[in-house]
Amino acid sequence: MSSIILKSATIAFVSVAVSLLLTLIIVPAMGFPVNRMIWLTSTLCPLVLAWAACASTFWHSDRLKSAHRDLARTHAQLAAAHRRLAEKASRDDMTGMLNRESFFAVLNGSRHKPDRGALLIIDADHFKMINDSFGHLTGDDALLLIASAIKRGVRDGDVLGRIGGEEFGALLVGATEREAKRVAEHIRREVEMIRFRPVDERTIPLTVSIGGTLCDESASVSELMRAADRRLYQAKHRGRNLVILDTDISEAA
Ligand code: GH3
Ligand code: MG
Ligand code: MG
Repeated sequence: MSSIILKSATIAFVSVAVSLLLTLIIVPAMGFPVNRMIWLTSTLCPLVLAWAACASTFWHSDRLKSAHRDLARTHAQLAAAHRRLAEKASRDDMTGMLNRESFFAVLNGSRHKPDRGALLIIDADHFKMINDSFGHLTGDDALLLIASAIKRGVRDGDVLGRIGGEEFGALLVGATEREAKRVAEHIRREVEMIRFRPVDERTIPLTVSIGGTLCDESASVSELMRAADRRLYQAKHRGRNLVILDTDISEAA
């Protein structure tokens, strides 16, 4: 506020000075005497008019600037809320992993990158039996334990998604087949080591079967999924709690 008064007063002062200068030049040149009335008019008019006009203009300009600042702040808050919502919408509520659509989108986006690596599909073994024996809520607890074990099994930077009820996808960024096998075995062991005791001291075994394939640049997402699914099927077929990757299937053939 004080800056508005100061700026308005400066402009009013300059206006008075200019007005007086012009009056002192023009009035005598027209042959009139510069009397007290003329002094008063040429001082008071610019003083009142310039001060009022400037004060109003500066005040409005200040309000505009402050409204603009508020708008920019609200815009930043909205953008942050939008980012949070988009992040939440891309995740599975239960496990915090990417949901199916987002996982496939990441997989698709990685296809032409040099570090695309390997894809694993991880499926809980005989999970229906857990639900049938202990109920769906206890089944949910078991699923959360499995999801945590999978998270412990992968490396920093790998991407995890829940692609079905008791089925998960892992994109092992930049992994060779050897590295993919090591990570998949790590996941399998982490799940196997879970001590799940839903009712009494009895431990109910939890295991997963894992099928995996190297991400070939020319393969589409559905081709990659089909290849990993075939290996998963093999792992189930050979007794479950097993990892099968590309070379395992060619060795068996
Ligand atoms: P397999 O070893 O062949 O994979 O046997 P499975 O019993 O795991 O496979 P199946 O496809 O027959 O059954 C999957 C079960 O997983 C059935 C379904 O109710 C259960 N399931 C899927 N999503 C959830 C979930 O979010 N919570 C619980 N509690 N169960 C789930
Ligand atoms: Mg299953
Ligand atoms: Mg399944």
